[in-house]
Amino acid sequence: MNSSTILVTGGAGFIGSNLVHYLIQAAPHRVINIDKLTYAGNLESLQAIQNHQRYQFRQVDITDAEAVRSVFDEFTPQYVMHLAAESHVDRSIDGPDAFIQTNVVGTMNLLQAARRQLASLTTEQQSSFRFLHVSTDEVYGSLSLSDPAFTETTAYDPHSPYSASKASSDHLARAWADTFGLPVLITNCSNNYGPYQFPEKLIPVVILKALRGDSIPVYGKGENIRDWLYVEDHVKALYQVIMQGRVGQTYNIGGNNERRNIDLVKKLCEILDQLQPATANPALADKRDAAGQPIIRYEQLIKFVADRPGHDLRYAINSNKIQQELSWQPQENFETGFRKTVQWYLDNQLWWQRILSGDYRLERLGTAS
Ligand code: NAD
Repeated sequence: MNSSTILVTGGAGFIGSNLVHYLIQAAPHRVINIDKLTYAGNLESLQAIQNHQRYQFRQVDITDAEAVRSVFDEFTPQYVMHLAAESHVDRSIDGPDAFIQTNVVGTMNLLQAARRQLASLTTEQQSSFRFLHVSTDEVYGSLSLSDPAFTETTAYDPHSPYSASKASSDHLARAWADTFGLPVLITNCSNNYGPYQFPEKLIPVVILKALRGDSIPVYGKGENIRDWLYVEDHVKALYQVIMQGRVGQTYNIGGNNERRNIDLVKKLCEILDQLQPATANPALADKRDAAGQPIIRYEQLIKFVADRPGHDLRYAINSNKIQQELSWQPQENFETGFRKTVQWYLDNQLWWQRILSGDYRLERLGTAS
């Protein structure tokens, strides 16, 4: 077994790419990234480290059991950090199939390959092998405004095809631990935000629509509540859990940062007003709000749209366990994390423009853009 190798799945996605950057910068391991490169996978997010001597990428679909086994045979990782998933709730409503294939079948393939590798190791090597399954707070269902936050013992009650597929994969991970003795750890995390988030998720949608002078869609009345965690705080937590967490345990990870969607959207608009005033943005020069007034503040672009079916009202995470056991704390708060994120999208326009134009995929297919 290569004692310094971490296998990351889904490392070309939002959280995965932030994790790979963190591991290369802050940890000593060789990092193997496997990713299918779906629409959500973008190797341009990894450009800064793509030639690093401790980094390697393989384009692998985790639903292909044989391809997954070959990766384990080739690299014999000591640590597996499993993030690859279909992750967008709206897409799971339009087409649940890929969610079951990747999130459920793909997870089983990884657990099986890890189990097969474990059986071939010495007792000493077995004792240091770890499999971290990265999941979401959405498996716990929806809270009322007065309910206490989710803990690690909250009963599962998923509502969307996405959260149901993630809940299934969590059960599989636990079953492989209980039945086959695989050293599994599970994390359930709240909504992430930060650099490299694909422009279909709420925060980049708001920033990019505003900058382009398009209306900013908000589901229902914007009263749904989410807990928001800066992605760098999340990836640090994941590394701490796999290195120091107790095998067989689940750790909830949250940002202590519960907000109504409408308050979040208004906060982003306010930060944009400060960093890139609407009055100086040429994309807004000819735009008018619903009342026919010129746009002088981004908030005027907000437009309420029909709610998502089965939209969970509130998620909130109690992260006392990881804070007490591993001394992990989020470093960013509502003000600092959102400001950093808006600034990142302002500073990295080429990254998101190439996604919006589709060029990031054309290049991957070897087509000139
Ligand atoms: P993402 O959609 O940005 O990235 C997913 C990555 O997985 C992409 O690079 C994609 O190409 C890859 N992938 C998809 N199907 C694959 C397959 N069959 N084989 C190999 N690779 C495949 O997702 P994300 O937001 O980075 O989320 C990462 C993980 O964290 C997911 O497991 C998600 O459930 C979990 N999570 C996300 C959040 C959040 O707020 N984004 C919160 C909690 C938990």
